[in-house]
Amino acid sequence: MTNTPHAPSYYAGSANPSPARPALQGEIETDICVIGAGYTGLSTALHLAENGFKVAILEAAKVGWGASGRNGGQIVNSYSRDIDAIEKQTNKRNAELMAHMAFEGGRIIRERIAKYDIQCDLKDGGVFAAFNEKQMGHLRAQKALWEKHGHTQLEMLDHAGIRKVVKTERYVGGMLDMSGGHIHPLNLALGEAAAFESLGGVIYEQSPATRIERGASPVVHTEQGRVRCKFIVVAGNAYLGNLLPELAAKAMPCGTQVLTTEPLDPELAAELLPQDYCVEDCNYLLDYYRLTSDKRMIYGGGVVYGARDPEDIERIIRPKMLKTFPMLKDVKVDYTWTGNFLLTLSRLPQVGRIGDNIYYSQGCSGHGVTYTHVAGRVLAEALRGQAERFDAFASLPHFPFPGGRLFRVPFTALGAFYYDLRDKLNI
Ligand SMILES: Cc1cc2nc3c(=O)[nH]c(=O)nc-3n(C[C@H](O)[C@H](O)[C@H](O)COP(=O)(O)OP(=O)(O)OC[C@H]3O[C@@H](n4cnc5c(N)ncnc54)[C@H](O)[C@@H]3O)c2cc1C
Repeated sequence: MTNTPHAPSYYAGSANPSPARPALQGEIETDICVIGAGYTGLSTALHLAENGFKVAILEAAKVGWGASGRNGGQIVNSYSRDIDAIEKQTNKRNAELMAHMAFEGGRIIRERIAKYDIQCDLKDGGVFAAFNEKQMGHLRAQKALWEKHGHTQLEMLDHAGIRKVVKTERYVGGMLDMSGGHIHPLNLALGEAAAFESLGGVIYEQSPATRIERGASPVVHTEQGRVRCKFIVVAGNAYLGNLLPELAAKAMPCGTQVLTTEPLDPELAAELLPQDYCVEDCNYLLDYYRLTSDKRMIYGGGVVYGARDPEDIERIIRPKMLKTFPMLKDVKVDYTWTGNFLLTLSRLPQVGRIGDNIYYSQGCSGHGVTYTHVAGRVLAEALRGQAERFDAFASLPHFPFPGGRLFRVPFTALGAFYYDLRDKLNI
């Protein structure tokens, strides 16, 4: 039987108390079986439970074990491609619907935190940092686009402006989004799980779904049990493997690495990020960082296509951190870890239905904290018979990766190398 603990992250080391949940034994019956207890699965399950459905979640390891419990904790609005890119891939009506949803995820997170009193260190304010005028131009265009869709909490920062929120000489300016922000991501997932259970929902941990028996009344099999249900929601994202071959062919797991320093001297912490905003830069292969509630620096970056675990994460991430903050050169690193997100070729999420009763959402390609919360609401709406917003997402094309499963890693790495080079050369 499996017994997979959380990755040895700062988040696991500072997690709120949470019960160990049993593995599934024997057969149960439920309305809806959700596979995966990350934000996608938890958000869907919680929306459904709030609407009176009987829901069981099967989680291969522990609640928040995947990307949801180990990410940068940054609440970033919209999608990994912006609304203008979406408009090119679907019709105007669907693009409008998705544009309206682009800022909903952050609101859902804040509503949940307030409604269920989730202790997860919420802070408002996220900064997009630009290295050059080309990136500033892109941010200005993004601001205009987001404002057109009713999102008004944005402020452009010039060189002096960005120096007031992040102490580094690297950026020419940036954009502040006060409806962005940051959270302790594992504690958000644990809080959502507890909220779901308070409404009668059931979570089985250490219970990987090994097989789906399709049909009018589908059955999800685990090593020691079965779930008979009316509907299945597949929310395994980058960790799903080949459970549904239709989904595995359309996306690629990628790793990204994070380090966390020892707690900083409070004066130094306040000097580096005086407003306690989180920051991500505008490069294709971007750096992202912020302070924790106990004033450690969490710094992430780098992408490993195909999600092989790198051997020495500190050796990869520390130089990036020191490039931004040379004054951290003597600071000790307490935690390093890696986690997988799911990349799609369009970098837009893949949402849909297989047959009549298997629903899925996957592949938000890096920016998933807000999107997964929207996805949960949209999947729950579809299961309640209101599919308009679900259909809008489902209208986005799902492209297979060039090169198939064998060559998708080198092909994509080559593409990323090209974009990274363009960032470095500022062309
Ligand atoms: C290191 C890192 C940093 C990131 N930083 C940010 C950030 O700052 N901001 C942001 O917006 N996004 C960030 N992301 C992306 C974001 O975390 C993800 O997009 C999001 O958490 C995905 O949620 P999910 O529920 O779809 O998948 P996951 O959280 O990965 O959850 C999937 C769950 O399904 C389970 N599972 C898989 N297969 C099975 C099975 N067969 N049976 C049962 N269970 C199964 C897994 O064990 C896992 O717990 C980051 C990602 C990583 C890896």
